[in-house]
Amino acid sequence: MASESTFNIAAQSAAPSDLVVARPEGLYCPAGNFFVDPWQPVERAVITHAHSDHARFGHRHYLASRAGASVLLSRLPDISLQTLAYGERLDLNGVAVSLHPAGHVLGSAQLRIEHCGRVWVASGDYKLDPDPTCDAFEPVRCDTFITESTFGLPIYRWDPPQTVFDGVDSWWRHNAAQGRASVLFCYSFGKAQRVLASVDAGIGPIFCHGAVEPLNRAYRDAGVHLPPVRLVSEIAPKDKAVFKQALIVAPPSAQGSAWLRRFGDYSDAFASGWMRLRGARRRRGVDRGFVLSDHADWPALQTAIHATGAQRVIVTHGYVEPMVRWLREQGLEAGAFATQYGDDTVEADALGGDDIAVQSSAAGVQNNEAQTHELDDTASRS
Ligand SMILES: [Zn+2]
Ligand SMILES: [Zn+2]
Repeated sequence: MASESTFNIAAQSAAPSDLVVARPEGLYCPAGNFFVDPWQPVERAVITHAHSDHARFGHRHYLASRAGASVLLSRLPDISLQTLAYGERLDLNGVAVSLHPAGHVLGSAQLRIEHCGRVWVASGDYKLDPDPTCDAFEPVRCDTFITESTFGLPIYRWDPPQTVFDGVDSWWRHNAAQGRASVLFCYSFGKAQRVLASVDAGIGPIFCHGAVEPLNRAYRDAGVHLPPVRLVSEIAPKDKAVFKQALIVAPPSAQGSAWLRRFGDYSDAFASGWMRLRGARRRRGVDRGFVLSDHADWPALQTAIHATGAQRVIVTHGYVEPMVRWLREQGLEAGAFATQYGDDTVEADALGGDDIAVQSSAAGVQNNEAQTHELDDTASRS
């Protein structure tokens, strides 16, 4: 489509008064002399949350939310970390910064930057759906809002989380009744703990893969209540019958590995926003796909952006182009920053290579018809 291919999304030209600009190292606040979730090593980095595309090794000083300190340090031990309580203000070079809940994962924050009467907010990743493992998203009024757009297409609409977890519970209950283990693949940081905190722990024992346990510990250290969860590796081969009634939470990388053999007969499922796409589910080759995301869906992105009152919106990652176009149609000033968010191993882990190609091309200049055709019937009815 010609109109889309000529659409210039990357050229967000900077005005001298801009509080955040794009630099090769990452998003930068010139007045405050700090970076936001930089992808190259810098002197001072403000980190919105501990996912690996936003929180990287190698910076000299880190500033992050106190709520997220345990998870951040479990991923990046020994960093020089200063923390702020949500809402607490800090002066950086004459610029007032504060962190506000983003509802994405434990400790996730939006960064509010105020200088000379202007207010910008950088969202990091966020969602509006309730999540017992982290503080709820808090709308912050601002002039300019820097937003993610991971699921920024109208096809992405989530069911209420309770509906999804009811589905997980009945899948698990059914498997347990058949004497079959239930193996649920999901990201080890954030999604796994949200699942653990939300399923009905009365159905049977819960186990996790070794990659999930350190994050569980960090969540518990931060005061998040999780049900009792044992490590799969604690069970001797002679006792493996215990798995027949169990829910086993594992990272996507465990799929297809020899680690699964110990469970004997099992049903597997995958929990991700990408499960909205039939193609993603098919390529995953799992019995069930649960559409569960820690990102805002299309309506929630719109709600969140509207709630900021911002007249200018800058989109960082995901389906950038459709979101920028939609924002301009709403009469807002909209543009994009080219970033390296969204292509981390955590998120890539959940996608097949094809899905990644589809996702990044949609963020570029191609049309979205391919994804629309991938939509399954249930999605278009919801
Ligand atoms: Zn994230
Ligand atoms: Zn991200």
